[in-house]
Amino acid sequence: MFGTFRSPKAVYFGAGQRALLARIVAGFGQRTLICTDERLASDPVFGALVESVTRAGVAVTVFSRTLPDVPTSCVEDAASVARQIKPDSIVAIGGGSCLDLGKMAALIHTHGGRPQDYYGEFKVPGPVLPIIALPTTAGTGSEVTPVAVLSDPDKVLKVGVSDPHLIPSVAICDPELTLSCPASLTAATGADALTHAIESFTAIRRSEEAGLPLERVFVGKNAISDHHALEAVRLISGALAGVVGDGTRLDLREQMMYGAMLAGQAFANAGNAAAHALQYPIGALTHTAHGIGVAALMPYVMAFNLPARAAEFAAIAEAMGVEPDDSQDALALAAIDAVAALYGEIGIPATLAELGFPEDRIEWAAEQAMTAARLVHNNPVALELADMKTILTAAYHGDRTSLTDGRANGRGPVHSVARLQTETARGRIPSVEIQSS
Ligand code: NAD
Repeated sequence: MFGTFRSPKAVYFGAGQRALLARIVAGFGQRTLICTDERLASDPVFGALVESVTRAGVAVTVFSRTLPDVPTSCVEDAASVARQIKPDSIVAIGGGSCLDLGKMAALIHTHGGRPQDYYGEFKVPGPVLPIIALPTTAGTGSEVTPVAVLSDPDKVLKVGVSDPHLIPSVAICDPELTLSCPASLTAATGADALTHAIESFTAIRRSEEAGLPLERVFVGKNAISDHHALEAVRLISGALAGVVGDGTRLDLREQMMYGAMLAGQAFANAGNAAAHALQYPIGALTHTAHGIGVAALMPYVMAFNLPARAAEFAAIAEAMGVEPDDSQDALALAAIDAVAALYGEIGIPATLAELGFPEDRIEWAAEQAMTAARLVHNNPVALELADMKTILTAAYHGDRTSLTDGRANGRGPVHSVARLQTETARGRIPSVEIQSS
């Protein structure tokens, strides 16, 4: 058995747990910078939290100019506020964008430089200012992950900074903070969480040679990430459609936030794979919300990966409550159908055409996706440019059977079994690592 588990020093979960914030912040020192966005800054729940921290004797400065997808300029703005007030901690409250901004503000404040200096893996020289993360979506899992995702005006695709030093010190997951999410946001963020669970549960499994976790931030599928991932599939798949239909159900909000946090723990250690690599160019062209893009791609990526991950897909089917079947292959195919059906039920487009992706950009998108080296190398089936085009073409036309038919009728999968990786041969660390999450 092999396992890697990096996480915050403390995760506090439960309705009302945000009441812990004041005492936790006071424990880190006398000044704090709270990073959030304009919407939350005007919310009375947020106002009450700030007041509680102030009452605990901590001087609070609020940075409320976080923008979705975190442009690098936003990081520089927040870091310059931090330079002025010299905080003892950073509190990040909001969706993934606010949490990622908080991580980057802590990094730049502690180690100086520009966001660009840290793109890639293991570029952070040491611990950063303590980060206390409170997610308001369920969600990216950023409250427990070592990555911040940014948009850089000089780059076509989003970029990532991945380093264990970016894992927040404390995560406070209070599902009541997600009650205000509208159905569309609940669907997109919940779909994102489910893809994290599926991609980490079905990622590459590397040989457990000593040193792997010090060479890679994301080590691939392992015993501990599997545990988190499968439970996340069970929780999220059991709650997602219900909570999109009725966002007032606190029991479902709890289930979603817990599942999203576990999915975050899973991918924080195992890493994501092809669906995330492909979403970067799709997102860049269609401006689709991250969760919608990865979810639209997920069933096609599962179909492509089927020959290497039938056992895992069968386990996913069982976790989703699919009727048991003696045939592992039948159950594995049923998992793909179940995931596609769930996404359909919550309104995720079933094809790239529906997302507004132009067919004549498939070649470009495939090339761009291949540059997401870490995600590409984390896929359980070795990916080449032609494979990316195959997946994108199937996803554009909504044709999953073109990826699975060969297997179902005994002719072998569309991609050669000979290319199924041995999972130890691909341990090379790519020289350029730009994509994350
Ligand atoms: P978001 O943070 O970009 O927020 C989207 C919108 O939802 C914003 O307008 C925000 O104000 C609003 N919102 C947030 N919480 C709300 C609430 N409770 N009620 C009403 N509105 C609310 O959305 P997100 O999906 O949480 O985060 C997406 C970002 O996170 C992307 O940049 C993505 O790349 C990144 N990401 C990061 C990680 C990671 O581990 N760091 C993982 C996955 C995705």
